[in-house]
Amino acid sequence: MSSHAETDRRILVTGGAGFLGSHLCDRLLEGDGEVLCLDNYFTGRRRNIAHLLGNPRFETMRHDVTFPVYVEVDEIYNLACPASPIHYQHDPVQTTKTSVHGAINMLGLAKRCGARILQASTSEVYGDPAVHPQTEDYWGNVNPIGPRSCYDESKRCAETLFFDYHRQHRVEVKVARIFNTYGPRMHPDDGRVVSNFIVQALRGEDITIYGDGNHTRSFCYVSDLIEAIVRLMDTPADLTGPINIGNPAECTVAELAETILRLTDSRSSIVYRPLPADDPRQRRPDITRAREAIGWQPTVGLEDGLIETIRYFRAVLAA
Ligand code: NAD
Ligand code: UDP
Ligand code: UDP
Repeated sequence: MSSHAETDRRILVTGGAGFLGSHLCDRLLEGDGEVLCLDNYFTGRRRNIAHLLGNPRFETMRHDVTFPVYVEVDEIYNLACPASPIHYQHDPVQTTKTSVHGAINMLGLAKRCGARILQASTSEVYGDPAVHPQTEDYWGNVNPIGPRSCYDESKRCAETLFFDYHRQHRVEVKVARIFNTYGPRMHPDDGRVVSNFIVQALRGEDITIYGDGNHTRSFCYVSDLIEAIVRLMDTPADLTGPINIGNPAECTVAELAETILRLTDSRSSIVYRPLPADDPRQRRPDITRAREAIGWQPTVGLEDGLIETIRYFRAVLAA
């Protein structure tokens, strides 16, 4: 079988029970391929994939990517890694192992199977960026020894491994640098800003802005993100990336809080807490490359995406 035949593709999704991974499994099962979801359930949840368990083309495997795995696959989406600062800082050594040993194992698997492999990299490779908006040729401004470094530096090292396996072993690689993405199936205790603010607003608890609220992020809705990485996987072999995937509409954390308060009709108050160490001041993707290479740009605006996400959390909190 060719490594990416149109039908009967065997697709491995690591981190498949997580927020992005479970949406990716949904999307891939709309095609003809078979999907193997590999996860150690550190931050992922079975309820994210429970609706897929009856599907004969879907299979799950409890496994930690820091250990080798021998399966036969044609494509690998490597998403396994905690993404929220509170989760990746819970066991920083394990975070680095997951990104680095996980990348080595998945690249070794891709090499043996002749599979193509996509890495879920991150805007964190740019650190606290001195260039704004961020283009892919910017090398970043990352603290190698701070509390965020286990995530940022191991994701950078994973990119290095992807490009070395490509150059040295001719593995077909795709590297997506994902910017802040939100949507249904984020964990209510995930700790990231969108889920925190929505859960706080719905519960009538104080909205916790870290710092003065003037720092910025650019928030991408999950369906736009999934569309982009599926398109990227299907590009010709010479298109490796890295390629920024995100929504260039930038907003301050204070504006996000105000929008969520309005959309939830909440009476929560805003309180200010200290800004965590090394928290980037600004973040906005330059998506020129994504527009040109995969004909992609986001289609879901912040308010529409937030309305869907609020609907999801209302149901979760009511359950
Ligand atoms: P998530 O925490 O919901 O998903 C991560 C998944 O990986 C979970 O299911 C978790 O159980 C699993 N996992 C963690 N360590 C593992 C290990 N050692 N072995 C096997 N499975 C393991 O987070 P997410 O937002 O869905 O992020 C998915 C990927 O996308 C991550 O690699 C993350 O770095 C990347 N990313 C996400 C964002 C975002 O804003 N959501 C931004 C940039 C990059
Ligand atoms: N590996 C794996 N599954 C495979 C092939 C390899 O998990 O099907 C892992 C194995 O742990 C190996 C790593 O990937 O150490 C890197 O593989 P590679 O072939 O590059 O290196 P080597 O086998 O020489 O260590
Ligand atoms: N943030 C905040 N209140 C919260 C959670 C996060 O003000 O309850 C801030 C955080 O300090 C950062 C921004 O929101 O400046 C985005 O944080 P998140 O953890 O979602 O993503 P990242 O910092 O990894 O981009």
